[in-house]
Amino acid sequence: MSSDAQIQVDLEGILPKIASGKVRDLYDIDDKTLLFVASDRISAYDVIMKNGIPGKGALLTAMSIYWFKYLPSQIPGLKTHYLDNVLPPALENSSLSAEKLTALRPRSMRVRKLRIFPLESIVRGYITGSAWSEYKKSGTVNGIPIPAGMREGERFETPLWTPSTKAELGEKDENISIAQAQELVGKAYAKKIEELSLRIYEVARQRAEEVGIVLADTKFEFGYDPENEGEVVLVDEVLTPDSSRFWPKESWEQNLGGQQPSFDKQFLRDWLTESGNKGKEGVVVPEDVVGKTVLKYREACERITGQ
Ligand code: ATP
Ligand code: MG
Repeated sequence: MSSDAQIQVDLEGILPKIASGKVRDLYDIDDKTLLFVASDRISAYDVIMKNGIPGKGALLTAMSIYWFKYLPSQIPGLKTHYLDNVLPPALENSSLSAEKLTALRPRSMRVRKLRIFPLESIVRGYITGSAWSEYKKSGTVNGIPIPAGMREGERFETPLWTPSTKAELGEKDENISIAQAQELVGKAYAKKIEELSLRIYEVARQRAEEVGIVLADTKFEFGYDPENEGEVVLVDEVLTPDSSRFWPKESWEQNLGGQQPSFDKQFLRDWLTESGNKGKEGVVVPEDVVGKTVLKYREACERITGQ
């Protein structure tokens, strides 16, 4: 499959495409079901690279599926949008080439089609990124006062729920207070989303730690079915290196007080900075950086799923 085909998942109009994000493409299967396809596209510093990371979509999908099975086994009653990883007959029996179908299967999931709460549900277990910047300036994270003297990369006493808005493509998500989150989705839903997110984070953090990964923070999305008042369903991709910060546990302590190497995108980010390509559009990533990045995604996937 050409690298172009890897980054443009082309279903030749067989299923209607309803959305296309930086990485994922969504297709309508029927009223209640979507095909959720992870491409090999990779973004860094908010820009999508011209070429993809071969196999990345399949690895992200395998990780999400792992969690969609594992999490409900640990959290009774947790609902997810995941149905199965089978292509619909409309595709299997279509004119798509065998090669395309082979490429499509491991990167696709059938999911329940839901309305999405307009909220990025972020949980932070460790202080880094925008939380670290805010803390340095004002001693708070999302307006919540945090004890003085924390070092960059340190673990919070208890994980924090720091919701943000879900910005349109090209815009930036904005951190919001818990009160603002309650205004956006209603008090009862906000409470439920917060509780579920913290619970899922705790379960995932333990699991990641067992395999040598520090789950520094992560972003969840939740959906609901208007015909099923009160139900809150975990959607989107979950606990992948694209939606979370994964740090190698073995180097966490020695890097406290500075930036932690990111498990997956570090090679790419370093190369972008060194080559002066940071933030530029249409950048072609050289073969060796692609190769090292693939290995990192594969390692994350193998460690988490055990496969
Ligand atoms: P990006 O992640 O690149 O910032 P994005 O979040 O808009 O952009 P993707 O993550 O690539 O786009 O695509 C996934 C989209 O599908 C998201 O908008 C997400 O809210 C939506 N989505 C996830 N699960 C479901 C679902 N079960 N039903 C309907 N929409 C969903
Ligand atoms: Mg997304």
